[in-house]
Amino acid sequence: MSTGHLTIDLDALIANWRALDHYTNCETAAVVKADGYGLGAGRVAKALAQAGVRKFFVAVAEEGAAVRQALGPGPEISVFSGHMRGDTDMIHDLHLTPMLNSIQQITRHLEALPGHPFGLQLDTGMNRLGMEWDEWAAIAETALKQRPTLVMSHLACADEADHPMNAYQLDVFHQMTDGISTPRSLAATGGILLGKEYHFDLTRPGIGIYGGEPFGTAQKVVRMDLPVIQIRHLDEGEVVGYGNTWQCTRPTDIATVSAGYADGLIRAMSDKATLWFEDSPCPLVGRVSMDLLTVDVTDLTETPHALTLLGPNQTVDDLARDAGTIGYEILTSLGPRYTRRYQSR
Ligand SMILES: *Cc1c(COP(=O)(O)O)cnc(C)c1O
Repeated sequence: MSTGHLTIDLDALIANWRALDHYTNCETAAVVKADGYGLGAGRVAKALAQAGVRKFFVAVAEEGAAVRQALGPGPEISVFSGHMRGDTDMIHDLHLTPMLNSIQQITRHLEALPGHPFGLQLDTGMNRLGMEWDEWAAIAETALKQRPTLVMSHLACADEADHPMNAYQLDVFHQMTDGISTPRSLAATGGILLGKEYHFDLTRPGIGIYGGEPFGTAQKVVRMDLPVIQIRHLDEGEVVGYGNTWQCTRPTDIATVSAGYADGLIRAMSDKATLWFEDSPCPLVGRVSMDLLTVDVTDLTETPHALTLLGPNQTVDDLARDAGTIGYEILTSLGPRYTRRYQSR
């Protein structure tokens, strides 16, 4: 077995969802887009459904189809991209709930699938998805008569608690939706942590469930172990890898490890990230290549068969910082080549 191993702790995943749920007095959904933030949407959704989650969100209808296949009928699966051209059969047959983003989508949905559930997405300043003031003013009365499941918006700066955009978007959301009887949702992970005025009727956490910031007290969900293919000894002055970017300044043992940028370990980690053998740090040296990493293991007292990139000594966010990115990008870039093992007690 030479692919990397991901060990996904489903108990930690569920504990994180429960902890986020305890922050609020409202219902808590789970966002499982991008293949469950890279960890496997089917398995993740199933574990969460068994723990009591009744509402799931995905980015696109195709992801909703995969989650429906895993969950069977019952749980509500909502689609952020709404009702796109060509999605009608999937939305109907798999009973997905599109979060409609424009008058055009509302028209398409009501014409193609009258009586089929839908939600409405409003833009409160992020300028990404959803209807703005003028569109909403034009359609709100008609759309609300069709009994949407949810009216939602999304915060642009919720990971920065002091950012003035949070209060601004909250105010806009109130102005756009106060007085309606439809359930409302504004908060993802960051919004949950901002406090109860952001919670409304439903929250939509993603990253916090998977153990990432801004949910600082999250339990670690994923461990990544990478097999060592071979170890070689270098004399002082020898070079390692593409471009010869790293040269050793002492006699050095280099472990060649099976994973690379094709596995989401992006080239920006080159010469920056650290792998671990138990509690000993081993620096990644030279460039990350497509399928391989080269790691300085000179200081280890035993020969490692595998090195750990995510685990007790290094979180997804630690690794992200080394690579100049965010935990979300590390997780969702992992790709299909790992063996994923799911653990629960
Ligand atoms: C991705 C996403 C979420 C989940 O966000 P996290 O920061 O991962 O909790 C919630 N709502 C919308 C609209 C999203 O796009």
